[in-house]
Amino acid sequence: MRIVSTWSFGLAANEAAWPHLVAGKALDAVEAACIYAEMAPDIDSVGFGGLPDSSGRVSLDGCVMLSPSCCGGVAGVRTHLHPVSVARRVMERTPHLLLVGQDADDFADREGFARAELLAPGAREAFERWRVEGGVIDQSRDGASRSLPADEARWRHHDTIGCLALDARGTLAGACSTSGTPYKIPGRVGDSPIIGQGLYVEPAVGAATATGTGELIAGICGAFLVVESMRRGATPLEAVRDAVLRVAASYRLEPQHQAVFLALSKDGTFAHAALRPGYRTSVMDLAGPRAVEADFIALPEAPTESGAHAR
Ligand code: ASP
Repeated sequence: MRIVSTWSFGLAANEAAWPHLVAGKALDAVEAACIYAEMAPDIDSVGFGGLPDSSGRVSLDGCVMLSPSCCGGVAGVRTHLHPVSVARRVMERTPHLLLVGQDADDFADREGFARAELLAPGAREAFERWRVEGGVIDQSRDGASRSLPADEARWRHHDTIGCLALDARGTLAGACSTSGTPYKIPGRVGDSPIIGQGLYVEPAVGAATATGTGELIAGICGAFLVVESMRRGATPLEAVRDAVLRVAASYRLEPQHQAVFLALSKDGTFAHAALRPGYRTSVMDLAGPRAVEADFIALPEAPTESGAHAR
């Protein structure tokens, strides 16, 4: 029995999920973890508190998965706070896999989800500053509200929650929720709501999720790649390591790029690898809660201002 969530804010999300794991309800557990993160205003890239797009409007993406035949997602949700819960309805009540934009919000309305304001005051202020000052996100100023370890605070705008759980009955489930890249072009969708990119679960093998620059993760079908490697015999650590190395080899990297893969096998073994330092996974199991540094870092030197880094 184990739940793993991306970043150290996942510790509190895991606590919210734990009773569901004990009850043998992995799907409820990952949904509860995401709901927690979506409601926390100090987590500024998931749900309420998420930074908006370049038009000043927040849009949320999320997905949920039990197996290839049991998964769902939504992207570009603007008036509902819990994309993972709406994604679960897509999975449970429609013959489809992914709903997007206004039509996803309309579906949420029909399913009885309450509408919500998604733009938190702090996110509005950060957006106004960005609009005036433009360019690079100022981590030191925007980071004041969150008590994260200094190295992790560097990536605080990459705080998608990806969550994988193995419950007391041995069921695996995964969920992923994000507001995406801050100040993105309206309409941009990253890896997080896409089955096989930000999340993949194959019950006979294991599960994987991702966080970081969505375009890098999506281009290599990251979560699917990790699970497929495991299906072909790789250990979870080999699988996540190979995925970050694939990212490192596939793109011309910029200083703001990060990519993280997290895997949980069907026997409960987990592993996580990051492109760059400053990432932790939140783990909760019978040994208790903890935040753990990545097993493997592809580019261990933090990037310099100019973008050069030692390899
Ligand atoms: N992967 C997410 C996206 O690209 C964002 C993140 O994890 O930082 O939408």
